Amino acid sequence: MAYFINDDCIACGACADACPNNAPKEGEEKYEIDPDLCTDSKDCLEVCPVGAIHPVE
Ligand code: SF4
Repeated sequence: MAYFINDDCIACGACADACPNNAPKEGEEKYEIDPDLCTDSKDCLEVCPVGAIHPVE
């Protein structure tokens, strides 16, 4: 997995709309990035209004 979404997520869906691979999926309380679909495009980072998407250390 290249990126993960932390608890700051407000489930706006912007990352899912921006992702060319449809990797962010709506979860129970926030969006989650499917590591099998993420290709490290970083498009989600540009659109997240709360900065909830971070690279995995
Ligand atoms: Fe959550 Fe940010 Fe994605 Fe919106 S863009 S669903 S706040 S991670």
